[in-house]
Amino acid sequence: MNYIDGFRDPDAAARYRVTLAQLGQELADQGGRACFMEVCGSHTMAIARFAIRDFLPPAVTLVSGPGCPVCVTDPGYIDAAIELAGQGKIIVTFGDMMRVPGSRSTLAKSRAAGGWIESCYSPVTALELARAHPEREIVFLAIGFETTVAPVLAMLDTARRSALPNLTLLVAFKLVPPVLAALIADPELKIDGFLCPAHVSAVIGANAYRPFAENHGVACVVAGFEPLDILYGVEGLLRQKIAGRATVDNQYNRVVRPEGNPVAQRLMDHYLMPAAVSWRGLGVIPASGLVLRPEFAQFDAEQRHQLTLQPGRPNPHCLCGEVLKGKIRPAQCALFGVACHPDHPLGPCMVSSEGSCAAEYRFASGVTP
Ligand code: SF4
Repeated sequence: MNYIDGFRDPDAAARYRVTLAQLGQELADQGGRACFMEVCGSHTMAIARFAIRDFLPPAVTLVSGPGCPVCVTDPGYIDAAIELAGQGKIIVTFGDMMRVPGSRSTLAKSRAAGGWIESCYSPVTALELARAHPEREIVFLAIGFETTVAPVLAMLDTARRSALPNLTLLVAFKLVPPVLAALIADPELKIDGFLCPAHVSAVIGANAYRPFAENHGVACVVAGFEPLDILYGVEGLLRQKIAGRATVDNQYNRVVRPEGNPVAQRLMDHYLMPAAVSWRGLGVIPASGLVLRPEFAQFDAEQRHQLTLQPGRPNPHCLCGEVLKGKIRPAQCALFGVACHPDHPLGPCMVSSEGSCAAEYRFASGVTP
């Protein structure tokens, strides 16, 4: 047995099925039901891949939330990136962004039309291009949750210390705790607990959810990505629901510390400050994003080029907004698997491998990872 196999043990999973069934019956006997939400694209993918919903008792629903960083990026951001490419800037982006629809087009189409748009696996690519092409401005598309922020800032820190004048960021960083609060405030949603994202929690720490859990009375469990991690996480949420508790339970303590990663947090505090930002499908949420501090304006593509990120216009037939809020499952969108599929995505949730629509399409269709 290796390290991963231990968390994929079928016998242990069968025992979880029994435990969850007993707890589900206990909840049902109380006249209760529970709705839990996972807020992490990697959880969404693992839940679909390992058919975790098949392990849940009838009294428990597990819905997917806005955990895919590409999916929550507003179409107006893509529009701005395409505009910068049209002005001759070299755009560097994580590959998932290439096919995400903006209001009118995508970065992939902009590249086909002659824009210089590089997809990358690491922000360091932007640094290398800035050094290789001092005559051009390199704009790195700085999107993502707390997980992605520190590596991007480490790259920016190197650029600043190297006095590279031709590298900027188009910033659309998002924060997880504020979006959880926005989801709880939605009267159409009744979420009893969150399966908190593992990678994000490694940065912000499990304690970051304590004010949220206490103020909103919602259970939070930090869980890893393997099937037994997720089943254990759901068990923890269910036990809190039955006991009427709402606390933070860190079940991924082999990676996540209560205080998180102080080095990454210091870097974030140094360069960034909170701001109200627009989320695809969820609108503008106060203090739910991070922007560059004024003293670093020379690295801010938005300020340097007098751009203002405006909310864009998503495809009116795409229901990604409802999918991202957990109000519908992907298959409830009439376009799912018909007009919209991974080879021809109409919305971001079908583009990214971490998107709910792509995960459901891929694993429900029997394609193995
Ligand atoms: S199936 Fe396609 S069109 Fe429908 S919500 Fe998902 S991404 Fe949008």
